[in-house]
Amino acid sequence: MPQHHKLFIGGKWENSVSGEVMESINPATGDGYLTVSKAGAEDVNKAVSAARDAFEAGAWADMAPGDRGRLLNKVAQKLWENAEYLAEVESRDNGLPINDTTMIAIPAAIDVLEFYAGLANKIQGDTLSSPNDRFNYTLKEPLGVIGAVVPWNFPIMLAVWKIAPALAAGNTVVVKPPEETPVSLLELARLFQEAGVPDGVLNVVPGDGPDAGNALSSHPDVDKIAFTGSTNTGRMIMQAASQNLKPVSLELGGKSPNIVFEDAEIEQAVNGSMFGIYFGQGQVCASGSRLFVQDSIYEEFMEKFREKAQKIQTGDPLDSSTQMGPQISQAQLERIESYVASGVKQGATLTVGGERQTTAGGGYYFTPTIFENVTNDMTIAQEEIFGPVISVIRFKDEEDAVKKANDTIYGLASGMWTTNVKRAHRMAQKLKAGTVYVNTFSMLDSAAPFGGTKQSGFGRELGMQAIDMYTETKHVWVDLSDNGLNWYGL
Ligand code: NAD
Repeated sequence: MPQHHKLFIGGKWENSVSGEVMESINPATGDGYLTVSKAGAEDVNKAVSAARDAFEAGAWADMAPGDRGRLLNKVAQKLWENAEYLAEVESRDNGLPINDTTMIAIPAAIDVLEFYAGLANKIQGDTLSSPNDRFNYTLKEPLGVIGAVVPWNFPIMLAVWKIAPALAAGNTVVVKPPEETPVSLLELARLFQEAGVPDGVLNVVPGDGPDAGNALSSHPDVDKIAFTGSTNTGRMIMQAASQNLKPVSLELGGKSPNIVFEDAEIEQAVNGSMFGIYFGQGQVCASGSRLFVQDSIYEEFMEKFREKAQKIQTGDPLDSSTQMGPQISQAQLERIESYVASGVKQGATLTVGGERQTTAGGGYYFTPTIFENVTNDMTIAQEEIFGPVISVIRFKDEEDAVKKANDTIYGLASGMWTTNVKRAHRMAQKLKAGTVYVNTFSMLDSAAPFGGTKQSGFGRELGMQAIDMYTETKHVWVDLSDNGLNWYGL
């Protein structure tokens, strides 16, 4: 791997205008392992111009949609060929265990590319029912230049969620990768170029959020901003985007409830709930960080949950036996610690973990953690910790579960474990969230829309719904009458 990465603008690899560079830190050691040019507002301007030129030149938007789809399939093929390498780059950059990047994050990104490659020639308007003297129809047209701002937890996957539908619909894209993990999206851009995607169609400019990210979201020549990140940043993005009233889609934070009923298959519920919180070191937007367990099975369930949580293998992300890697940064580690301290202070019982884990290589490791005797008014039950910390709350019955589960500012995901099919569907209607999982958690399907309600954001990525976010509907009215429009009779 090269020791220095440049920005990818208009098909060229460029140093930043300021000459500034930033270091990519390996969270497993805390050491910088390569440098990346750091984009500022001027570089964002250049990238937006390149994307605009590529859009206006028509090499992408005017290409036959089937050909666009074929090119996206070529990109997907390139990703399959380089999947192991990309998984390693992503794991080194953000600390996800290599099994998680190899088996989940990278294949999931490729699946999304293939899904939208297939959709490229199926994006269509409607013919409206009209009287004989006119013809009304709609066109689905690309918006133009899309700005995408993504977080560090799954950079490739979350960028592809935006790039694939945007490109399938004929837009061009500028992506701002997160400062913590700038490398993998530059590697992704290289593969787009190798597959033959024309210059300027995809541009990648890593840099700081308040600088490069803000320049992109406030840019007057960007037609839409697609954002994934924290709720607070989402607010700033919306404000910046209001400069030219560009549409915004926001995939934000969560504090998702995971409800275990007394009629659940206990072993499956324990295993699935563990995945729900500890996958990705708890740095997953949809993670089931509030666990509601029915009184009558509380001890039976929690005994197994505590026992298994302590057996999760933490270690070097590049070791295939590792099940949980390090947190992303020192700052994130300290944030998690402060939440643990607040849980203890507010009277919750720390029954498992709750501390840093020291390893020979250094790094930002934290133990799988369980808080019990949590009540809904505690900070650890309300705020997103974004770490391997689960807050366990008891409930009496279905009504109590719904009330407690919905008592949050967030509404991203929710889940339940039950063998009662009527209860499952009743609950699915009552839970306020973009996704409801029944007897599973944190699963994704390229064809299924994903997004939030309340302060978890708005807009839906994936599925057919994402195409709506990257197209404008234009109405065409054709007058077929003999007399035409003569309102004034003149
Ligand atoms: P973050 O909001 O700090 O950063 C996300 C991105 O926004 C980064 O690229 C950052 O550089 C950029 N940014 C920061 N300030 C900005 C500004 N003022 N203007 C423009 N861009 C700015 O989030 P994070 O810490 O990187 O990621 C964690 C958060 O992301 C969590 O809250 C998590 O729930 C959320 N997330 C949500 C989803 C989802 O699909 N809903 C998925 C993954 C992560």
